Amino acid sequence: MIYLDNAATTKMFEGAASEYKKFACELFYNPSSFYREGRKVKECLESARKSLLSKLGATQGDIIFTSGATESNNLAILGSRRNGSWEYIFSMGEHPSVYNVAKELERQGAIVHYVPLLANGKVDIDKIENLLNEKTRLVCVMHVSNETGAVNDIATISKIVKSKSNALLHVDGVQAFNKIKFSISDLGADTYTISAHKFHGPKGVGALYVKNKNGLKNIVFGGGQEGNLRSGTENVAGIMAMKWANEQIDIEKNYKNTLQLKNTMVDLLSKDKNIKIIETDSPYIMSVSFKGVKGETLARALQDEGVLVSTGSACSTKKMGNRILESMGIKQDEVLSSIRISFNAYMDRKEIVEAGDKILKTASKIANLEI
Ligand code: PMP
Repeated sequence: MIYLDNAATTKMFEGAASEYKKFACELFYNPSSFYREGRKVKECLESARKSLLSKLGATQGDIIFTSGATESNNLAILGSRRNGSWEYIFSMGEHPSVYNVAKELERQGAIVHYVPLLANGKVDIDKIENLLNEKTRLVCVMHVSNETGAVNDIATISKIVKSKSNALLHVDGVQAFNKIKFSISDLGADTYTISAHKFHGPKGVGALYVKNKNGLKNIVFGGGQEGNLRSGTENVAGIMAMKWANEQIDIEKNYKNTLQLKNTMVDLLSKDKNIKIIETDSPYIMSVSFKGVKGETLARALQDEGVLVSTGSACSTKKMGNRILESMGIKQDEVLSSIRISFNAYMDRKEIVEAGDKILKTASKIANLEI
């Protein structure tokens, strides 16, 4: 099986799984317990926090451990609400774990603005600038699109947000963290979401980077763990496995490898004139459409050939169409003929060549049948 759906999830590193087992079966103590064993586990958690902060290049701020990116995004957005009438700005490119929270804010009576994407998949920064005012509470723009691999210029957006308002800037960094090199202090985000299973850690664990905890309120109530911002006993084994994966990854080396893989796939697929590739900056994700071929039919046929791709983010495949591609101005028939191919740095070129070959053959077979 050639797995080309790494934006949906990645295979856990064996070392991360061993670390998970160690903290599930040996050092299984509750980090909030007063006795020595508990305190030792607490120290381990603190070392995991430092490990993530260091990889983020943070010079200030904290890490709040969560059950993954969905919870981190909910905490960042719902935790930023304040009494009074406030406005919120969301990019149209956001993952459902942000977009559906925006819809909930609207239901609760907030004024919510949605900013469309440009044809290159990036958010329209000028439109954000025009919407900012003293009532803007929060701006949400993802770092890298899980659908297209478009990379938003967060540093520029944050400068504009800070110069034109007192708003907070939340960034969903799930497809960027441990994939592209950046420093959170250069980005200027107030909160930043990460998820372990997108970088070869376990599912169900992630974190929210918070520059200044005073800007945020808890959204679940309980024992007050994680600095009162996220109650519940921490998923210690998951967090320590996430730390292991975090320390294993060499971002620059992986970026180079992955870029070669993507370029190989782009070269192969470009041979077919009926194929259109959306050019984006992340080497990890590409969105491709095949004239006259339904993306879903192609993805299913490829499964039988041993190649796994998706027809969009795994979380939105059940919905009709694709909000993100449509926001980029892509026509409905092209949207429906799109598939997403996503890589990981540990694949080899041979696999990509084999998969590319199968994609070309399968697509042309279907196109001939459908004509
Ligand atoms: N944001 C983005 C950009 C994602 O790609 C995903 C996963 N598809 C999520 C959030 C949700 O992540 P999790 O599975 O950790 O909740």
